[in-house]
Amino acid sequence: MSIQKDKKIKRLHRKHVWPAVLSMFLFISAFTFIILVALGLFMESILSGKLGHAAENTQKVAQIISEEKISNEEELKRITKEIQKTLTDVEDVCIVNANSETIMKSGVAEPELERALLFPEYNNLMLYLSGESEDTLHIENGEVRFEVRDVLENFYASKEPGDDYDRTMLQVNFWSSSPMLTDDLNIFVKNQIVIKETETRSFIVFVAMSIFIIVVFAIYFIIFIIGLFIDQKKLTKLLYLDTVTGGNNWTYLKAKGEKLIKKTKHSRAKYVLIHVKMNKYQSFCTCYGVKEGNEILELMNNVLQQNIGKKEVAVHYARADYAMLLRYETNESLEQRLETISERLGSVRPEQRLEFNMGVYAISDIYTDMDTMYNNASIARSSLNEDGDKRICWYSDEMQEQQLWERKVEDTMEEALKQKEFQVYLQPKYSPKEEVLSGAEALVRWISPEEGFVPPNRFIPIFEKNGFILKLDDYMISEVARQQAQWISEGKNVVPISVNVSRAHFTKVDLAEHICRLVDQYNVPHEVIELELTESAFFEDKEVLLGTVRKLREYGFTVSMDDFGAGYSSLNSLKEIPLDVIKLDAEFFRGNDEAGKGKIIVNETIDLAKKLNMRTVAEGIETKEQVDFLAELGCDLIQGYYFAKPMPLKEFEQKAFC
Ligand code: C2E
Ligand code: CA
Ligand code: CA
Repeated sequence: MSIQKDKKIKRLHRKHVWPAVLSMFLFISAFTFIILVALGLFMESILSGKLGHAAENTQKVAQIISEEKISNEEELKRITKEIQKTLTDVEDVCIVNANSETIMKSGVAEPELERALLFPEYNNLMLYLSGESEDTLHIENGEVRFEVRDVLENFYASKEPGDDYDRTMLQVNFWSSSPMLTDDLNIFVKNQIVIKETETRSFIVFVAMSIFIIVVFAIYFIIFIIGLFIDQKKLTKLLYLDTVTGGNNWTYLKAKGEKLIKKTKHSRAKYVLIHVKMNKYQSFCTCYGVKEGNEILELMNNVLQQNIGKKEVAVHYARADYAMLLRYETNESLEQRLETISERLGSVRPEQRLEFNMGVYAISDIYTDMDTMYNNASIARSSLNEDGDKRICWYSDEMQEQQLWERKVEDTMEEALKQKEFQVYLQPKYSPKEEVLSGAEALVRWISPEEGFVPPNRFIPIFEKNGFILKLDDYMISEVARQQAQWISEGKNVVPISVNVSRAHFTKVDLAEHICRLVDQYNVPHEVIELELTESAFFEDKEVLLGTVRKLREYGFTVSMDDFGAGYSSLNSLKEIPLDVIKLDAEFFRGNDEAGKGKIIVNETIDLAKKLNMRTVAEGIETKEQVDFLAELGCDLIQGYYFAKPMPLKEFEQKAFC
């Protein structure tokens, strides 16, 4: 998958959720902050008024007690009770001497004198905090601050069943002092500040409204964010949906697979990524229709899902390709499992004999990206032949090199053809008895400015796969025809030259006409051109092949069967196809033949060819002994290193015509 696509998916995952969460958080914090500030300012203004009132009270108490001339504590208690009738905020009274010692007190409470504060703005009110008031009043640089949090806590803490707390918003106790008019004594009054709910009603309405708004917005935001999450889940599902099978797609495997693989970092579990491909899917669709093709893809996906474990993933990749991320222990056990899966996939349509090739990439580095892994599995799979017996192939580094080479070849082949980097080499064929040069085979050589001399086995199989062989063979036929025309025009006694015609050509119905046109450009008699067809070509569409061979012979070309005896030999094809020449494969003459069986077969084949009116050419002949043996059997021509290797045209010219 492209980097662009990956980025877009990541962006979709984050879509809208975080901005929404952030704006909710900012909105609620800002709103709460404003309310708290307003509450604080309001409470402070009320408290300031109350403090002034307390200062006045203290002075009044000091005046009354000074005038009464109290001599004992009982009197103090009595007078305090009297005072409390008119000054209801007064709770307790204490008389303290100059050494700060309590002389008399009306109750049990005493001020903590070391924690005194002077408020000049309230008639020099001295404030002595008791433990409880300190919680509520926060004193900073001589200023009384009111802590809203504490106020509310106090308010609710004071609430008890049956209390008429709803009328009392806040109750604060503190000591204040004033000098007595007589002696050196100080009078201490424990005040009570009570803030009634009625005093704060409008403010409470404001706070309640604000809390209500905050709650409404919070609910709205939460619903909105939940909605976004649900949307995102749906979007993700859609993102992972494979529209052909209704299952999951490659994006899903990537996302889940990466997590599963990373977990193996601390475990001994091993994973493989597999490319599974149904062979000949295109032909299947041509025969049964695309709809049926899609149905089979869905059924196959179901089979794969049934055959994977919890920590494994299988998805449809594209067309008839699937990807599987499987755990495994040994290569053998995995291969067995894959064979079973392959059988089960095949049983989806038993009557149609479906076949599957699998490329396996063993994951060794968990940080390799999934696309590369899948590509490697595909490289392994593509090395398998659709018609071959092997169905499973493991990826190896050499495959990667081969892949790179193939890439290079594909990138340069067109230009190489234009630049005439492909050159015709000729390998002479000799008559065994007279040892006279009587023919030749044209073999291509790639002389690359970058790679140097490249032998055909390094590029012909690639061209056969990608179809470029058609162009190359046309080029070779044309070049040979051109060369023959030139030699004829020079009055040389030319010999027939055979050209290889790849099996890929045999799908063309007008192949014979096509070859004719190529050769006729140079006005060459067709007899000097021979066409070598490989035996495997005979197994393709027989009717087309038969028609082509017949027409070629009618046009006057010689047709030979190349590599006879290699691979699957078919004697039947000798019967059916009207050929001129059989080329005995070099394999007949390789290895030791102590039992002499090879010789018997060669003998019989040459005999058979003669009876069928065909000539024989033996390939890959390297020794005098082989030449003598073939001469004795009556083999018509010999091609091999014993006589000559393939050579450039100039060299051949000297050998053939001098
Ligand atoms: P082939 O058609 O069977 O060609 C014969 C191959 O055997 C040639 O290999 C030749 O060099 C080699 N050979 C000949 N005599 C001896 C011998 O005595 N000993 C040994 N060890 N080898 C011998 P080459 O040229 O490497 O070609 C390999 C194959 O590439 C050819 O096999 C043919 O299938 C293909 N090829 C070459 N040129 C063309 C072409 O122009 N078109 C097509 N379609 N295929 C070509
Ligand atoms: Ca050949
Ligand atoms: Ca051959």
